[in-house]
Amino acid sequence: MLPILELKSGRERSLNNKHPWIFSGAVKNLLTIETGTIIKVVDNKKTPIAYGFYDKQSQIVCKIFLFSNQELLIEYFDEQFWFHKIQKAFMLRRELVLNENTNCCRLLHAEGDEMPGVIADIYNNAVVLQILHKGSEFILDHIVASLNKLGFEYIYIKSKESSKHIEYISVASGWINKALPQPIEVIENGCKFNVNVESGQKTGFFLDQRDNRLLVKTMSKGKTVLNAFSYTAGFSVYAAKGEAKHVVSVDISKDAIEAANINMQLNNVDHMHVSKAEDCFKYLKDMEDNYYDLIILDPPAFAKSAKMVNNAARGYKEINLMALKKIKEGGILFTYSCSKNIDRDLFRKIVFGAAADSGRTVQIIYQLTQPSDHPISIYHPEGEYLKGLVLKVT
Ligand code: SAH
Repeated sequence: MLPILELKSGRERSLNNKHPWIFSGAVKNLLTIETGTIIKVVDNKKTPIAYGFYDKQSQIVCKIFLFSNQELLIEYFDEQFWFHKIQKAFMLRRELVLNENTNCCRLLHAEGDEMPGVIADIYNNAVVLQILHKGSEFILDHIVASLNKLGFEYIYIKSKESSKHIEYISVASGWINKALPQPIEVIENGCKFNVNVESGQKTGFFLDQRDNRLLVKTMSKGKTVLNAFSYTAGFSVYAAKGEAKHVVSVDISKDAIEAANINMQLNNVDHMHVSKAEDCFKYLKDMEDNYYDLIILDPPAFAKSAKMVNNAARGYKEINLMALKKIKEGGILFTYSCSKNIDRDLFRKIVFGAAADSGRTVQIIYQLTQPSDHPISIYHPEGEYLKGLVLKVT
């Protein structure tokens, strides 16, 4: 028998709208079961609505992975059930992203693929898994078996570094069965990248900027380009391959800069590239006026929690103001925020503030988001996290 979570009367609306999170205030009684257990959610007439993972440590007491009015038993959620979801996700990526020019992408995007607590990224024949919910830890064997069935032999589990997370999720970082020597060489839109899934940031590479990097490529010809917060030179490789005149990558991480230099060499574009391991706030403050034609600002999430929004907004405003003030007449600024806690409207307001203070004329020429392999469930708008604006500055 599955444990049953009963909703308060009138609190089933968001579930009827398929929103996959249940907050503690919506339920009649909390359950005394282990976090991660699969449960059945019913309305106050005891009719099943959904099935999900329970969590007694969080305000979000349940994350739903299946909406169904049928009475289902625990046996229903077997390997075949999870394989079906993962196969569906893989087919979508094969349809949309994977081809002879691109062999890396996101395979499972948590709620976006009805797999709460699971992130999986494909790097050629390897998959890097992040397990972010106790429930998904409990189904790890099914996930691994499904990935094996789909042809992925090399699976690396990447745990988050934070101690809070380690207490919660017990699975440690490491390869399952077979290890793959690092780095892995991948190809994205015909550009080559070395990805170190063990020591790199996130799962090794920022796959969510793939489409946006391609746009940079088409706009870089003959330009002097600054890639600020460059990590391993993703945008720089594309700008150089788009025949930029000169590309500068700046990142505070020495390891990222070393990897950036290697990536430029891999693509035979290192002759036009300079890299600096430096704080971008300082670099932007000290850089010459009127030097860059195209600037990319892709900082890490400044607002990792709702409490940090004000400080984060100041940070975004500062870097945008410096870039807008100093970019050449007619220049192009690509500016991003990946903070979940800063929505599209707020980000635009922050950039508006920077534009107004810069005194420049600023036109929005593109509004960007995450690519198709990072899908957003229409019922879970919180899944949209990447915001980008491309600005023409005169
Ligand atoms: N644009 C990159 C991803 C950037 S991730 C890509 O397409 O791959 C954000 C990067 O900002 C990380 O590499 C991190 O090391 C760097 N970073 C964080 N704070 C920084 C700072 N103050 N100055 C410079 N780089 C910083």
